[in-house]
Amino acid sequence: MVKELELLNPHKWIQHIIQDFIATSPKNTMDDGSGEAAWDDVLVGFASGADPIWQQYKEYVGAFHWTPWEVFSQHRPGETVSPNDLTVISWILPQRRIVRDANRRSRTYPAERWARIRVYGEAFNIALRHHVAQCLEEVGHAAIPPMLVSNWAIVKSERFSYASSWSERHAAHAAGLGTFGLSDGLITEKGKAMRAGSVIAKISIEPTPRPYADHQAYCLFFAEGTCGKCIDRCPARAITEAGHDKEKCRQHLVRSRKYVQETYKFEGYGCGLCQVGVPCEAMIPVKSARKALEHGKLPPPPPPLA
Ligand code: SF4
Ligand code: SF4
Repeated sequence: MVKELELLNPHKWIQHIIQDFIATSPKNTMDDGSGEAAWDDVLVGFASGADPIWQQYKEYVGAFHWTPWEVFSQHRPGETVSPNDLTVISWILPQRRIVRDANRRSRTYPAERWARIRVYGEAFNIALRHHVAQCLEEVGHAAIPPMLVSNWAIVKSERFSYASSWSERHAAHAAGLGTFGLSDGLITEKGKAMRAGSVIAKISIEPTPRPYADHQAYCLFFAEGTCGKCIDRCPARAITEAGHDKEKCRQHLVRSRKYVQETYKFEGYGCGLCQVGVPCEAMIPVKSARKALEHGKLPPPPPPLA
């Protein structure tokens, strides 16, 4: 049955691999002794290694941002591939309601559940990247998790103060899973409160359409000139109408370590206050974009901002 799925419907096969791992892996845990799982749902999308968007990222984010072919070729030098032979498999793990509810009540530092997701939920996400790559390898498709390769790095960027050689959010955007908001988070069908992952594989899978007219179409601020609720949610004043100040945000995350250690008694950190208590927390707040996604059509382009 699983083999048939792999051959006949690779979309469903990959989705099955991920859902099965979420349902059965002991690594899917909050690690608080309660048996509570970190994740219960996933969105999966696919992008071609030959999609021109990867080159656009190089031009927009910086030359250091890898295309799928660049990172795959570095780490699988024995495989002869062209960009066309590669598919980027991207997924979104939406935060569960109980985790969002808890963090919505926070005003300065994260709720315990949110901080646990940042540490143990992400540990699961790392295991999931390895698992997906291993499942592909087992049936003959070379695969790598680009976030986990030895030379993945955070790089200083003139435009963004710093950026990385592979971004899970940018991979998810390429794979049709969402667009960026004022706070820099990726707004998906299940909202902005989520974590993302990806694997690049030598496999041909039909790309997921990108049902958006531009890279900010799901954010009310850019689409309709309204909202800005994430500005008020940020305890570090790191979000303004000009966007997200990564350095202020990073400093707040550093401060959160002491709070998490002293309050919750484990080594962790986090914040994510801008991801909850906002219209994009668990849905696409732009009605026309939501409808377009439901009906598989592109929404009209946004009006110019005043
Ligand atoms: S809270 Fe509003 S302005 Fe901020 S990212 Fe979400 S939709 Fe955009
Ligand atoms: S921008 Fe950073 S500091 Fe501000 S709410 Fe979001 S995660 Fe927290």
